Amino acid sequence: MTRIDLHCHSTASDGTLTPAELVRAGAEAGLDVMAITDHDTTGGWEAAAAARPEGLTLVRGAELSCRWHGAEPPIALHMLAYLFDPAEPRLAGDLARLRTDREQRAEKIVNRLAADGVPITWDEVRGYAAGGSVGRPHIAQALIRAGLVRTTTEAFHSQWLGARYFVPKADLDVFEAVRAVRAAGGVTVFAHPRATVRGRVVPDRLIVELAEAGLFGLEADHEDHTPEERAHVRALAERLGLVVTGSSDFHGTHKTVRLGAFLTAPSAYEKIVSAATGVPVLG
Ligand code: AMP
Ligand code: ZN
Ligand code: FE
Ligand code: FE
Repeated sequence: MTRIDLHCHSTASDGTLTPAELVRAGAEAGLDVMAITDHDTTGGWEAAAAARPEGLTLVRGAELSCRWHGAEPPIALHMLAYLFDPAEPRLAGDLARLRTDREQRAEKIVNRLAADGVPITWDEVRGYAAGGSVGRPHIAQALIRAGLVRTTTEAFHSQWLGARYFVPKADLDVFEAVRAVRAAGGVTVFAHPRATVRGRVVPDRLIVELAEAGLFGLEADHEDHTPEERAHVRALAERLGLVVTGSSDFHGTHKTVRLGAFLTAPSAYEKIVSAATGVPVLG
């Protein structure tokens, strides 16, 4: 059986394994194909490629922070992007803006916490991000260190990063994201599109419009989807002619899910590879 996991995070964003450790862990977990998909960055690509074990095929990608402005307030969503040219100026510019905003936003959150007497600093949080794309899990790490919560999940409760100390990010318009990735020769897959546990989800009519704009696939098998939500996503993908993926969304110790916990069918993977022209798969 070919084991394909197309959604994994490293320390280039909010995962806890370095890109090199991530690809080695992928091989140890028995994966044949794995994608590195850090939030809003390709910063882990080079190290992952250099450390890629024999027998593991590496798909280079990213997970883009997006927003749909068709609801009030707008709905945040994540778009996986695979095999795009990282030097393509429009997309590279979009990603750079997202990362700068992540820093400003994280600093704002830390300042609000500090103003309420929480003993954490921006320097500490920036240290956890270690030059990678900063996210709330890095602030969660500081809250754990300060003894205020025990787990990342607890740090996302409403009295902390989930609501009381929530500051929105300046995400990409989702249509801009789909078009920019296409222009860079890449392929987009809508990550966990029905994950109601994460908050509001977009209506199917948006997914219909995104398919018309060039969206390539939908992630159905994900730990944040119930069996009903997975079935719904599958049916919608079939109706719209989109590929279906399944992936772990591995984050190391920032989450409990294991590499390979959810997998993508070889036929879907092959369609993604055939459609992409930005960079080749490695392996
Ligand atoms: P951010 O990108 O800074 O808004 O932070 C969101 C990131 O935190 C995503 O990568 C999620 O995987 C992770 N995350 C979101 N909610 C939770 C949660 N309840 N527990 C643990 N991690 C979470
Ligand atoms: Zn993450
Ligand atoms: Fe996501
Ligand atoms: Fe993710």
